[in-house]
Amino acid sequence: MVSSTAFSTSAQDWHSLAPDAALAALNASRAGLDPADAAVRLAAHGPNALPAAPRAHPLRRLLAQFNNALILFLLGAAVVAGALGHWVDASVIVGVVLVNAIVGFVQEGKAEQALAALHGMLAPNARVLRGGQRATVAVASLVPGDLVLLEAGDRVPADLRLLRARGLLVDEAILTGESVAASKSEVAVEAAAALGDRTGMAYSGTLVAAGQGLGLVVATGVQTEIGRISSLLGGVQSLATPLLRKIDAFGRRFTALSLALAAALFAFAVGVQGMEWVPALMVVVAIAVSLVPESLPAVITITLAIGVRRMAARQAIVRRLPAVETLGATTVICSDKTGTLTRNEMTACRVATAGACIAVGGSGYAPVGALDLPPGQEALAANARLLIEAGLLCNDAQLAQDAAGQWKVDGDPMEGALVALAMKAGLAPAALRAGQPRSDEIPFDAQHRFMATLHAHTSGQALLVVKGAPERVLAMATAQLGASGQPEPLDGAHWQAAIAAAASAGERVLGFALRQLPSAPVPLDFGAVTDLVFLGLVGFIDPPRAEAMAAVADCRSAGIRVKMITGDHAATAAAIAAQLGLSDAPVVATGADVDAADDAALRVLAARVDVFARTDPAHKLRVVRALQGEGEVVAMTGDGVNDAPSLKQADVGVAMGHKGTDAAREAAQVVLADDNFASIVAAVREGRTVYDNIRKVIAWTLPTNGGEVLAIVAALLLGLTLPMTAPQILWVNMVLTITLGLVLAFEPAEPGVMARPPRAPDAALLSPFMLWRIVFVSLLFTLGAFGIFAWGQWRGHADALSRTMVVNVLCVMEIFYLFNVRYLHMRSFTWTGARGTPAVLWAVALVVMAQLAFTYAPWMQTLFDTRDVPLADGLLILAIGAASMVVLEIEKALLRRWRLFDELKGNAT
Ligand code: ATP
Repeated sequence: MVSSTAFSTSAQDWHSLAPDAALAALNASRAGLDPADAAVRLAAHGPNALPAAPRAHPLRRLLAQFNNALILFLLGAAVVAGALGHWVDASVIVGVVLVNAIVGFVQEGKAEQALAALHGMLAPNARVLRGGQRATVAVASLVPGDLVLLEAGDRVPADLRLLRARGLLVDEAILTGESVAASKSEVAVEAAAALGDRTGMAYSGTLVAAGQGLGLVVATGVQTEIGRISSLLGGVQSLATPLLRKIDAFGRRFTALSLALAAALFAFAVGVQGMEWVPALMVVVAIAVSLVPESLPAVITITLAIGVRRMAARQAIVRRLPAVETLGATTVICSDKTGTLTRNEMTACRVATAGACIAVGGSGYAPVGALDLPPGQEALAANARLLIEAGLLCNDAQLAQDAAGQWKVDGDPMEGALVALAMKAGLAPAALRAGQPRSDEIPFDAQHRFMATLHAHTSGQALLVVKGAPERVLAMATAQLGASGQPEPLDGAHWQAAIAAAASAGERVLGFALRQLPSAPVPLDFGAVTDLVFLGLVGFIDPPRAEAMAAVADCRSAGIRVKMITGDHAATAAAIAAQLGLSDAPVVATGADVDAADDAALRVLAARVDVFARTDPAHKLRVVRALQGEGEVVAMTGDGVNDAPSLKQADVGVAMGHKGTDAAREAAQVVLADDNFASIVAAVREGRTVYDNIRKVIAWTLPTNGGEVLAIVAALLLGLTLPMTAPQILWVNMVLTITLGLVLAFEPAEPGVMARPPRAPDAALLSPFMLWRIVFVSLLFTLGAFGIFAWGQWRGHADALSRTMVVNVLCVMEIFYLFNVRYLHMRSFTWTGARGTPAVLWAVALVVMAQLAFTYAPWMQTLFDTRDVPLADGLLILAIGAASMVVLEIEKALLRRWRLFDELKGNAT
């Protein structure tokens, strides 16, 4: 037990303590806490998290289900029916309303749970030093005394007293309201300093805009400054999306229209037809209920929630629900190269110095493989060794073997490959680094594309080591290390040719240089990085991901363009693009081309180009805007802090879960758990499926409701005997139709989902094809209902039996139509189509059982005034259902053959 763990972290003015005093106060050291000590402290201080906002009480959420004009209207009707002594009608209405509310309540709960679970999947991590080792731990497990490493793009995970700051800029707007990022250093400030002036502190929840730092955790959870201001995390995100809102608005307008229509019908039935007002009221209420697609928003919410769950299973975590809809409409995916399209497992495969080119053997990070120096050039090995040493010094990565003996990199993969290269050359990384400790550095940044480190030399001199994009390093060099081991004039043409040769083989190339300085510049700034002596190049292979190649092919068949936007060299990017099959002959442009084009020219360029190379984040933003200007729906990947604007601008911003910074993840709508391009394409596929399913739900709900209503309205207008009673109408609408319609939310993707072009972004949900479908199917249902009723009358059945047969015909036709609507785009008469899915089979079994009970169970007969249907009539009912299926399939086939509707084109089956 560590006795000194139970200290108060809140009473101290940490900003006025010197770093070492702060460490001492927390009984911590610069090597970080011992893991056992951290565990003890965690038990004492609790997790580093803010309590979640409580959810609404379940009863309140259940009551919210009744907060719907239609439901209230129905309950009103039940009260009227009860008051008039129509107890059966009243209890059926109340029963149906209750069932509807409970189903809505349960489903909404499930949808919210699905979203809440995603919240957990995105739990943030922090990089810490514990027991002298770097480690990645959950932010929740940070304790006072921990040492946290900060980088650009990180969300500061706890209140920190900074022990080291290198160009550290922190955006503290959420605490201070100050929009300009604050510059940080280690120095203590006076105790009275305001929050915004405490330069030695980094506060939980603020965002690292640039630089690097190391901080000591001084407060966690509710003890932090942000914890004291707002001690609650936001609750579950809202389920509303633009589409849902549109459908809700449509539903409300439709409700108003239906009620007006119902009122007119009521007046007509009582005034003109001379119907008694009480039964007329009941029927009109039932019609209004049938007409209004009250279950539509609920079923669509469920469809979206299921889409979210399926995407999560495919490693795409949706942070904002509307992304589910937009993904399905994506027309262009702009993707990073390294780690998304490629594996980000780097291996150094060649070392080029002036006069020699050495092939390096081996694969992965295992330090096994020979450096193959051409015979007769052994003297040049010293130059290569110097270059490899430089690669080890200007490097933050470490290699270690895991429990299974696999070599793993901690840090940047390319830097890890440099460590492996050094070990293959017989160097001992730890000893070499310890012999030349780093005194300062300029961290790598995608904007300046190099990294520089400063090392003290025993002679009192300082050594500046630089690595970076080769043309960038060459531009800062004035000499090169010649074959003789002495500096000589720089041969730019030679190096350009060497870079082109390596890059066109798909290698990623880094240049290396150094400079001896008489004394160390304090602090190291860009001004010192000139007059370098160029050492040579290292080429790395980073093979494309096999699954990315397949996903690119999928995109091509789905009419989605893939554009690579990378910081890498044009030739490397073009070679990888060709390997991936991005297009038959990839067209390449560079960041400089983007700079040279004005907005209008860029729109033309962006449409044509497959690969944007040597870009920085600002280029990405312009490219997205240009593509959007051309009417494209753009999904864009990103990982760095500077990618946040383009992620926000894109229609779907996609951040990397592993490689990405907190800033990128927070700006994105979707986070990829595996950083893999294939997961974006899987999400697009799910997005298209969700949209298809929403359309199926609509293509299901509207005509089934419509058919039933049309039959009753026609009978009312023509003064015929009504083919159904009010409770029967409610039964069909709120039990059969809803149960069967719900399964459409669970439908898997149709086979051709990635073989057709993206939907037009502005396409109306109710396309001409859908409108035709709704009218045609409504008429078919009306015909079925009227037909069987007339048949029953003709056979001399009592009205009650004829009505029972009408309800049964509607039930059977709905079951057959369900199988038809499952495939909007293709034939339903297939084995897979007939077999259905478990959800379909369950729903059908449930509905068949309920319908049998409705027809034959004595208590149901009393409740709904139904009668036993004779066998012959039962068989006829089944035949009508099957015939309706045949008619619908013929209609689908003819429409496809005549190519009447755009959306049926391009689907052969
Ligand atoms: P992508 O944008 O597809 O991820 P990328 O990783 O090549 O590609 P950046 O990370 O912006 O893009 O890197 C741009 C260039 O900077 C690289 O091609 C490389 O030459 C150089 N570079 C990358 N990482 C480092 C590093 N750690 N140190 C020095 N130079 C680097």
